[in-house]
Amino acid sequence: MARTRERNIVLLGAPGSGKGTQAERIVARYGLPHIATGDMLRAAIAKGTEMGREARRFMDAGELVPDEVVIGVVRERLTEDDAREGFLLDGFPRTIGQAERLDALLGGAGRGLTHVIQLDVPEDELAERLAGRRLCRACGKGYHVVFDPPARAGVCDACGGELYQRADDDETTVRNRLAVYRAQTEPLVEHYRAKCILSIAFGGGKMPDEVFEQVAEILGGAAS
Ligand code: ADP
Ligand code: ZN
Repeated sequence: MARTRERNIVLLGAPGSGKGTQAERIVARYGLPHIATGDMLRAAIAKGTEMGREARRFMDAGELVPDEVVIGVVRERLTEDDAREGFLLDGFPRTIGQAERLDALLGGAGRGLTHVIQLDVPEDELAERLAGRRLCRACGKGYHVVFDPPARAGVCDACGGELYQRADDDETTVRNRLAVYRAQTEPLVEHYRAKCILSIAFGGGKMPDEVFEQVAEILGGAAS
């Protein structure tokens, strides 16, 4: 049965570690819904919802949005049909509190995480990657001004949309996001190591393809 092949994955990694890029490849290869809390929060901001307004204050400062807000968003998303047979969580959990709530949420439904993959990238590389990151306003595709530039500066190869820099990718906010990651999210590595579901993929100085080879090795097999 499909159930035995269920992949319930968490992708862990600092800002700039390449989570988004690897996430896109994972969901394409394994046919999983991509649940990215950062994207969901930015969508709420764009829509101008109450929750978006609340989240924005924290995000623009590089702080974490309160657990209760994010957990609510994820809980709802996980009950949707497409997430019943597996999912990829990207950017969640980010605190021990969130991880415990996730464990309880899944456990209550007789489920559990099958893989936690940590994307390990040296600190000095992270800051460099974030500073050069650009996104397409129209389709969301990501670029890097040095490592992965578009054919024409400022224009998306895929759709011709305008490229922009995320408000929280400026230098001061980046420094804060990295500090927040170290303090609040990095402890999750030990949390999941203790549960024996942690694997590490090394991303330092590697192209996305090389990183994905490691990821695919961890996740194994073909799509379910
Ligand atoms: P990155 O991983 O590059 O920092 P994300 O898009 O995942 O980018 O997150 C951007 C911001 O959204 C975070 O700095 C934080 O403010 C907020 N956010 C996203 N996911 C969470 C979460 N699980 N808990 C709290 N805040 C979150
Ligand atoms: Zn585009």
